[in-house]
Amino acid sequence: MSGVNEIRSTFLDYFQKNGHEVVASSPLVPRNDPTLMFTNSGMVQFKSVFTGLEKRPYTRATTAQKSVRAGGKHNDLDNVGYTARHLTFFEMLGNFSFGDYFKEHAIELAWKLVTEGFDLPKHRLLVTVYSEDEEAATLWKKIAGISDDKIIRIPTSDNFWQMGDTGPCGPCSEIFIDQGENVWGGPPGSPEEDGDRFLEFWNLVFMQFDQLAPGERIALPRPSIDTGMGLERMACILQGVQSVFDTDLFRTLIGTIEDVMGVSGKDSASHRVIADHLRSSAFLIADGVLPSNEGRGYVLRRIMRRAMRHAQLLGAKEPLIYKLLPTLVQEMGRAYPELVRAESLISETLKLEETRFLKTLERGLSLLSDATNTLDKGDMLDGETAFKLYDTYGFPLDLTQDALRAREIGVDISGFTDAMERQKAEARSHWAGSGDKATETIWFELKEKFGATEFLGYDTETVEAVVQ
Ligand code: ATP
Ligand code: MG
Ligand code: MG
Ligand code: MG
Repeated sequence: MSGVNEIRSTFLDYFQKNGHEVVASSPLVPRNDPTLMFTNSGMVQFKSVFTGLEKRPYTRATTAQKSVRAGGKHNDLDNVGYTARHLTFFEMLGNFSFGDYFKEHAIELAWKLVTEGFDLPKHRLLVTVYSEDEEAATLWKKIAGISDDKIIRIPTSDNFWQMGDTGPCGPCSEIFIDQGENVWGGPPGSPEEDGDRFLEFWNLVFMQFDQLAPGERIALPRPSIDTGMGLERMACILQGVQSVFDTDLFRTLIGTIEDVMGVSGKDSASHRVIADHLRSSAFLIADGVLPSNEGRGYVLRRIMRRAMRHAQLLGAKEPLIYKLLPTLVQEMGRAYPELVRAESLISETLKLEETRFLKTLERGLSLLSDATNTLDKGDMLDGETAFKLYDTYGFPLDLTQDALRAREIGVDISGFTDAMERQKAEARSHWAGSGDKATETIWFELKEKFGATEFLGYDTETVEAVVQ
């Protein structure tokens, strides 16, 4: 009962039996929501149901939602490959109440599924609550019989959930499992919480408020429930492994990477990054995002190029990542038929991007190595060079940062943004006075759209979008 497909159906069946409508995952590109880069949790497709703007024929729903946390709020890109629990693409299992049940029944439902449906040992579970939400602590004691020392009161925003700067929000309560004394790490809220010993797997959000603007919060007409359980994290627990990358699906993907690259994946961050980034790239392309130099397309490009650098680290000299796709489609195509439908588009897009980027990747990396060979741990790469890598060689800033991470060398970000601003200003002054306003406008639009020099990696959005 521990493969991802079984976990997904156990979850959905359980909530369906408990009166929830099973609703399909929404696409990764949120509809009509410019405030959000990608769908990053199950509640996104229900946002206007929570605020009361939209009515549905049901008041309880359950979903397995495709989610991407890269770019924008909730950006896990830098964590991937380096923590045991973060992916850029993952599936979030959720149950939702739209003004129907609230805290008490949400905790009852969750506890019963965790301890009976998934049969997790009670003594290894602990929960967090928001420090101002004593009601939740009392309910956990009453319903689950959890002792007070296993209820951790957290005063920070970690236990006050917000989807974005505005929208529905409220206190939340997270369920953790203790993976055992032989794993390093401390309970949530402790200084050692970054370790892997205590793994968060389910977040119950008690939606009570609507944040209209900073400092302006109103009570929702009827309080609601929004929960999210990471499917891959539950697989990790049920399969008795400590990292999502050791679960069956990732083991299969990493096995294919080993075959295609001819390098062992044991303890290799590169294998993990490639496996994760392959998934997020494939699912984003299947949902209509294509690599570009702006907005969502640029986040996709950053993900793809990061994966390519890691492939290069493993010795790849030609496009290889697209060769991993059939394994992914075989593993996930049944649950997500859009992957099968888009397989040739995904494959072509990966191959094209790899072919284009390989040309400059190698040259860029040698420039980077020349520029940093006298630098030591704790030093900074100058912003000019980081900008040149970005502008001429198509290196997204985070790729450069990732490339220097192992050596603990940082990047001078303000120097980078200065260089970018200078280049934009220079380009404009160069054109000033040509007298031909129309041509000028078109030129700038094209340049901003397709980028500088080699038409690679120039971002048109504000500098923040690049630095983010
Ligand atoms: P963490 O503290 O581990 O970063 P989170 O508190 O940011 O997780 P939530 O926003 O509460 O995560 O999301 C609900 C659930 O989704 C989490 O409890 C977890 O199981 C899962 N989840 C969140 N982020 C990721 C991720 N990057 N990769 C895989 N699963 C995730
Ligand atoms: Mg997080
Ligand atoms: Mg958390
Ligand atoms: Mg959480």
